[in-house]
Parts: sequence; C-alpha cells; structure tokens
Amino acid sequence: MKKTKIICTIGPASVSKTVLQNMFRAGMNGARLNTAYGTPARYEKAIRAVREIADIPIIMDIKGPEIRIRAAQQKVLRKGDTFEVGFKEGEFCFNHDFYDKMAVDDLVLIDNGKIRTCVAEKANRKLCLRVLNGGVVEDGKGVNVPNKHLFVSTLSDRDIKLVELSKKLDAEYVALSFTRNRADVEKLRAQNFEGAIIAKIENSEGVENAPDILEVADGIMVARGDLGVEIEPERVPLVQKSLIKLCNQKGKLVVTATEMLESMVHQPNPTRAEVSDVANAIMDGSDAVMLSGETAVGEYPVEAVDMMSRIAGETEKAVKSNVEDTAFVNISDTVSRAIQRICQSMPVNKVVTLTRSGYTARVIARFKIAQPIIAVTPEIKVKKQLELTFGVQPVLMDYSDEKDLISAVANQLYNMHLLGDEETVLFTAGVRTTTKHASNSIEIHKIKELRRYASAS
Ligand code: PGA
Ligand code: MN
Repeated sequence: MKKTKIICTIGPASVSKTVLQNMFRAGMNGARLNTAYGTPARYEKAIRAVREIADIPIIMDIKGPEIRIRAAQQKVLRKGDTFEVGFKEGEFCFNHDFYDKMAVDDLVLIDNGKIRTCVAEKANRKLCLRVLNGGVVEDGKGVNVPNKHLFVSTLSDRDIKLVELSKKLDAEYVALSFTRNRADVEKLRAQNFEGAIIAKIENSEGVENAPDILEVADGIMVARGDLGVEIEPERVPLVQKSLIKLCNQKGKLVVTATEMLESMVHQPNPTRAEVSDVANAIMDGSDAVMLSGETAVGEYPVEAVDMMSRIAGETEKAVKSNVEDTAFVNISDTVSRAIQRICQSMPVNKVVTLTRSGYTARVIARFKIAQPIIAVTPEIKVKKQLELTFGVQPVLMDYSDEKDLISAVANQLYNMHLLGDEETVLFTAGVRTTTKHASNSIEIHKIKELRRYASAS
C-alpha cells in the first residue's frame, strides 16, 4: 500500500468520470475544489462526480483573505502599459477593498508573480498600475501585494456561501487560503462547519503565526505558489521543513502543495528537479502532496498522479521520524512513542488503532513507522479525514457495543482480508475509559492465536 497521500485539484481536465476513475486507480486519495475559478453549481457537480467514483475526502478550498482579480474579459498587458483596476466592482477589479492601504510605487503582482506591476496613481477608488513585466490577465488570477498587511476580511460573502455548500455536501475539509492568524481560523469555525480545517500558509503573517494557528486548525498546507511570491522564494524550502516539522510534532495533518510536477501541465514527463521536489517533500514528513494545475487544467492528469505515486513508492521507505521528545502531553501521545519503539524492536506486521477522533492514528503515523497503520473508527467523517494521513488505512466500524473490543475488531478485519493468520499485529485502544486522547493499552497478537482464543472463550 502507498503511504504518501495524493490530493488532486479537480477542474475541467479531470471532472469527467473516466479521468476521475483513472486518477483514483493511479493513487488519488483526496479531491480539492479550488473556488477561485468556476461557480458553486460546478463545484457541486464535481463533488457529486467524485463521490460517485470513490470514497475519498473532499477539500473545499475557499479564498478567504486571498486577493484575486476579477476580469470581465482577458487582457494582454505589455511592459510600460498602464491599466486601471477598481475594488469590488467594475470591468477589472480586486475582490477585496484595500484601496486605503495602497500607496504610489507599491508592487502589485498578478498570477503567482508572473505579471509585475506597480501603483502609478491612486484616485477615485481605483489604482492605475504600471506594467513592469507583461502577461495575460484572466479572471480569478491571484494577486500579491508583498510585505503589506491589507487588513481585508477573513471571509467574503461568497466564502460564507461556499461554507454553507460544504456543509450541505458534507465536505470533509475546508482549506482556508491566506490564513494569517488564529482569529481567521476561529471565524471559519464560527460558521459551524463540522469538518476539519486546513490553514493554508501563504504569506509572512501566516508563517510567523503558524504555531498559534495550529492550536486551532486541524492541519496546515504549505501553499508554496503564493508563499514564494509573498516571501523571498529562497526562504520557501526551510519554511516548508519547519512547518512540516511543527505539524508532525503535534500529530496534525500537513500537505505540501503547488508546482510539484508543474511541467506535466503540458508534458507527459516531469523534470528531474520536480521529481526531487516531490521526493524531498515526502522526506520532510508531509502526509500528503498535492497536484494543482497538473490535474485541474493539465493535459496529463492521470500521468501526473501515476508519476507522484511512483515517486512516493520509491521514497517513502526511507522517511524517518522528525518528532522530538517533549514533556508529557497526553496518554495517546505517550503510547504512540512506545509503539514506535516496539515497531522498531520486534517483527510486527501491522498496527491497528481504535480511534474515535482520529488523534491516536495521527500521533502514531507521525513517527513514519514501517508498518501499515489500520485505523478503525466508528465515525464516518473521521474515517474519511484519515484518508489523508501518511501510512494510515482507515476502516469504518462500530465497535461501541463490543465487550471484547480487540477480538471483535480483529475478527472483522480478518473477514475483510485486512489481517491474515500468520501476521503479528499490535493493537491499541482506550479501554475502561471514555477520556479523549487516552489510548491506554497495547496488545500484541499473532492473529491465528487470537482467533483461536476468541472462538474457545
Ligand atoms: P492556490 O493555493 O492554488 O489556491 O493558490 C496554493 C498555493 O498558493 O500554493
Ligand atoms: Mn494560494
């Protein structure tokens, strides 16, 4: 089983049933809807299409404080041109109002920094931009104003509607673009979304506040597309490593994203540097790696997923834990550390964790143990969320009425062909407790003997 999880952004190139099916077979573990483009009706259609072909989580990526350009039509910009942009209304406008924060000479970058402009004039609630580096402006392209706090609102009216849609369609995750601080995450939580929240870290404020953000978010996305424009690109590799390490330490989800196999948008093969980048993101400790344009609008979406799976298969064997020793956190945390040692010192084939919130599965998984981790949970949402955790195979099972938890779960997993008679398996569960994060037991069994014992008693 592949351990590294692959998230595919769904778009025109991949929304058909055949392509979705082929991407799933090639190794897709999660589907992201980028709401910068398209309409709610299209996202709904895409989500239903994904649900039809596979039992994988949906990540609704909302734009939050992200600045985008709205364009009634395409516009070609050449060096030296000037070009007027309004706020929230007009033929060309920004989606948020930050007119008051702008000054003459400020840099305004469009489309991941490909188009560079600066403010030449500011009047009548419009900016006149002078083009320093040309390109084609298209509706929905991202805008960066580096090193400026623009104080735009966390959620636009459109975002709030999209959170409602996420609730209606039971999306497992909402990803919040340009998360700047803990309050951004809390404002999204206040919309009563019950799934998990991924904070996308893509500017300097997000990087600075990441530890605090992670206190309230369920995970982080290292969103390198914007991050590499908002901060100096040469800082991105080490920021990536430190964000991943931070998440691993806490047992929270971490996704590395953007430009991973960028050249596969137009070519059937990646560059050597891209292959290395994917491998290094896995070595750093990512749970999941993400494809953006490659699968959304690319010419080779299935090939890109297949390539990522191949890189993962080759690389993940060598991943080591970067988790450090800490003072006591909780029982599951301590038990997960013991499990790591057991798995290194005796021949165990698999680890089975009974987990209600998914927490125990994630704290075990962060150690990147060699053994596959089967996470058994009675919660459907948790089951789907765990699909994105490195090395974890989630299984939905209601064990709440069982007296002998371990025997019952082992038996069902055996019947599902997930455990075999000759395998030695480590089980962990919270027994005689209802406390959260309290997997307080470890049992190690040869399945054949466990089944013999259970049927005799
Ligand atoms: P985006 O986010 O694709 O929604 O812009 C990812 C990134 O910026 O890397
Ligand atoms: Mn982004």
